[in-house]
Amino acid sequence: MLVRYIITRPVMPKRPRETKTGISHAKAQDTTALAYKRTCLELGEEPNAETYEHLSQRDRGAWAVSMDIFSGRDRQIAAINDAVSTTAAMRAVGKESQGLPARNPWSCDRCDWASHCSGDPVGDSVHQWMGAVAGKPASPISVSMPNSPQMRKLARTKPGHVVSPSELRSFMTCPRKWALEYVERMRPRDRQWARMGPRIRGVITHAFFEAMLIRWQELRQDFVPSWQWGGYKWGSQDGHFEAAAQNVADSYLDDIKSTVDRCIGDLDPNDHEGLRELIACIPACAKAAHDAAGLATTGIDEIIGIEKTKAIKLPGVSRWVFGIADAIAKKGDRTILIELKTTSTAQLDSMAERYRNNVAVDLYAAMIEHGREARRG
Ligand code: SF4
Repeated sequence: MLVRYIITRPVMPKRPRETKTGISHAKAQDTTALAYKRTCLELGEEPNAETYEHLSQRDRGAWAVSMDIFSGRDRQIAAINDAVSTTAAMRAVGKESQGLPARNPWSCDRCDWASHCSGDPVGDSVHQWMGAVAGKPASPISVSMPNSPQMRKLARTKPGHVVSPSELRSFMTCPRKWALEYVERMRPRDRQWARMGPRIRGVITHAFFEAMLIRWQELRQDFVPSWQWGGYKWGSQDGHFEAAAQNVADSYLDDIKSTVDRCIGDLDPNDHEGLRELIACIPACAKAAHDAAGLATTGIDEIIGIEKTKAIKLPGVSRWVFGIADAIAKKGDRTILIELKTTSTAQLDSMAERYRNNVAVDLYAAMIEHGREARRG
């Protein structure tokens, strides 16, 4: 199966820098070629040809990129075999039920639980941890039954019985992190924008992306890449870049309103600055989703599924892997799985390379090719 990874960046290009002597012609600026050229004209300066050319090249990889890879039979079998052994290890750890499982202290540097774990490395008073609260319960999952219109509800109480690729990754990163989040269903209380911001940007971008693909199915409109948008002029009331992004956001606002409300609900209600940041990031998320939708729809015939839940029973055991595919497309008789990722880094190509051997994609491909329809909730 062909897998199309799309990496997009929900941030706005910056206004080209100005120095005491005029506009900066430095190439290392997080802006677009068009913005640079128009700002030069706005200030009555001649654009530097080399800088303009550099930024034009940069635009192609600085805001959104796509990478097509092939997930074949061998990759999928290996991913499924890994899932069988990882879920077996989860079951074994879950059955021990003697406090928290072993740590992986080599993964602590980027973990949300670092301060809790360092204060209680043995983990014997986990239920008294300050700053940790109950998270959401596991959502119910039902799967279609062969030769029957009925759906079968899968038990979600047994550790390792029904898992997502994210849960598998969590266990492989650190069994204790997995136990805290997927068995104890805990989460850190810190819900400030500083911690939640990147995730919320990703969630809102995904919601726009979904809404854009749904509309594309009907209208087949082109998505002009944001760095080619005309009318760029900072500070003007109409026709400037931010207004264009806001227009895109406004035209899908009804479709994503429930997602935005949910994100606001997830944020600490006392984090007023965070709430402002959340509202302010919406046009950048719309712009990023618009660029991603352009790449997603390039060279395909149709989209046959958006945010589709699929599940696959693991061979030889009574355990399942489920996941939600961002989009499934068709080109001729070929199926294409479309996966959207957001990042804050401008090095999108190297970011994309990191996904090339991502085992989650092989699990998704196996679910789509050999799994069953599933439903959450
Ligand atoms: S949960 Fe694991 S990775 Fe996270 S801080 Fe604790 S030991 Fe480290």
